[in-house]
Amino acid sequence: MARDKNVFEQPSAATVTHDEPPPGLQGMGGGRTFFGHPVGLSTLFFTEMWERFSYYGLRPLLVLFMAAALSEGGFGFDRGQASAIVGIYGFSVYLASLPGGWVADRLLGLQRAIFIGACFITAGHLSIGLSGLAGPGGGKVPFFMGLVLIVMGTGLLKPNISAIVGDLYPEGGSRRDAGFSIFYMGINIGAFAGQLITGALGEKVGWHWGFGAAGIGMLVGLVVFSMRRGSTLQGLGTAPTRLSDPVAQSRRERTVKITLGVGLSIIALIFLLTAMGSLTLDPQAIGQYMVYVTLAMVVLFFLYVFAAGGLSPDEKKRIAVIFVLFIFAVVFWGAFEQAPTSLNLFARDFTDRNIAGFEVPATWFQSVNSFFVILLAPVFAGIWVALGRRNRDFSSPGKFSLGLGTAAIGFFLMIFAARAVVSGGAGTLVSPWWLVGSYFFQTVGELCLSPVGLSSMTKLAPRQYVGQMMGIWFTASGLGSLIGGLVGGHVDPEKLDQMPVLFQRTTMSLVVAAVVLALLVIPIRKMMREVPAKAH
Ligand code: GLN
Repeated sequence: MARDKNVFEQPSAATVTHDEPPPGLQGMGGGRTFFGHPVGLSTLFFTEMWERFSYYGLRPLLVLFMAAALSEGGFGFDRGQASAIVGIYGFSVYLASLPGGWVADRLLGLQRAIFIGACFITAGHLSIGLSGLAGPGGGKVPFFMGLVLIVMGTGLLKPNISAIVGDLYPEGGSRRDAGFSIFYMGINIGAFAGQLITGALGEKVGWHWGFGAAGIGMLVGLVVFSMRRGSTLQGLGTAPTRLSDPVAQSRRERTVKITLGVGLSIIALIFLLTAMGSLTLDPQAIGQYMVYVTLAMVVLFFLYVFAAGGLSPDEKKRIAVIFVLFIFAVVFWGAFEQAPTSLNLFARDFTDRNIAGFEVPATWFQSVNSFFVILLAPVFAGIWVALGRRNRDFSSPGKFSLGLGTAAIGFFLMIFAARAVVSGGAGTLVSPWWLVGSYFFQTVGELCLSPVGLSSMTKLAPRQYVGQMMGIWFTASGLGSLIGGLVGGHVDPEKLDQMPVLFQRTTMSLVVAAVVLALLVIPIRKMMREVPAKAH
């Protein structure tokens, strides 16, 4: 039992009393608090809020802009290709968390990584915003360079800002969970506002006004972080982990710098060759290839951890549970991440968006998800706590299965919406409530799965694998974005028949996954039997 305690509790739990501020936070922020939490949380909350404002503000505009005809100021790309690019972008953003977390741990420290990340993201948005000066159809080089900068910047910012949130609560436990819930609210307030403001500007005023507004949001986040980090975060995440032997330390730093140099040079080379026209990239083919390569790499990684990770039989069982949760998370995100692609196109082309003569921008529908998260997150937190108090907690696979099943209802609704369009023919506009209802059920699914998945990774992973298992969790989101991008182009007024088929397949995948996982709940709970019931 003593060993289990180490796995599931923070190492400093025994040394920190709950009445005193944790070491490192004493005297910080002059005793000020943020909703009763360390004041540093406000800095992280607002920085992440503005970062998500810019991320979610830009994302839904991407497919609409790239697929828009040259005469409408777009790139005139085929829908399937435009959607696949959005998928590859989402995949890269999440996958970049792996090197981003690594560079922060080994070289930069969390705070510097966040600062540099925020600068990269701001530069990326600026580059995209200014690409509009090139005129219709032009500006592809600054546009794609902007996307690459945002990918690199988000890789540096997103995992490391979450890591500092965790560091604010060295005592762990429910206060840390509560801190993460407040942080998740910040994410969704930013997403909600971003999609309303940049969406309206992009669709109503001009694409590049929307892109520019997203950039200004990130600039505000950068200023907030720079001005407040010294007074509220001092001491946390300022230095990377160092080895005690200076020779080994400088060797380690050299390895990181060389790896970074090689990686960045390869990205720059591919970018240059493509920009010069010497290399032609087919996003759909690359996207499909990436799904298989990434899945194969994840399987190999788990096999390696099993065979050579030096784990005890109990730890191996928990790693196996993480693998199972990862697979089902990919199915969930593969459906959920169709929001910026297929559901976005459905809002634009087949949804009646007129309210008393005002045409609601398609991108506003993206905000529905964030709105429901802000509304429902406290309700769900309350439900889990209430169930826990009565000793009737759902296990994490149980909650995952529920999440998959609820998301299936969301896509089931879309089958009817799509059939109504097919029977009415192109030009038919259906009620906006179909999408609102779909997003409602998807959000309920998200709240059963996403926060639960995050905390399960930290609780199930052996200490020395926590960071890597977090990376695996974000890889599931990345793969989901890729799948959502690859299938997203199936919403097309010229190929109406594909649409109900897409939503049927998505619903079926979710239902099958929910049922299979429900059947696995009991064996998985047996595998996790060492985990204290309270932890899940
Ligand atoms: N909406 C959450 C965020 O932006 C989670 C997204 C995901 O993991 N796919 O952080």
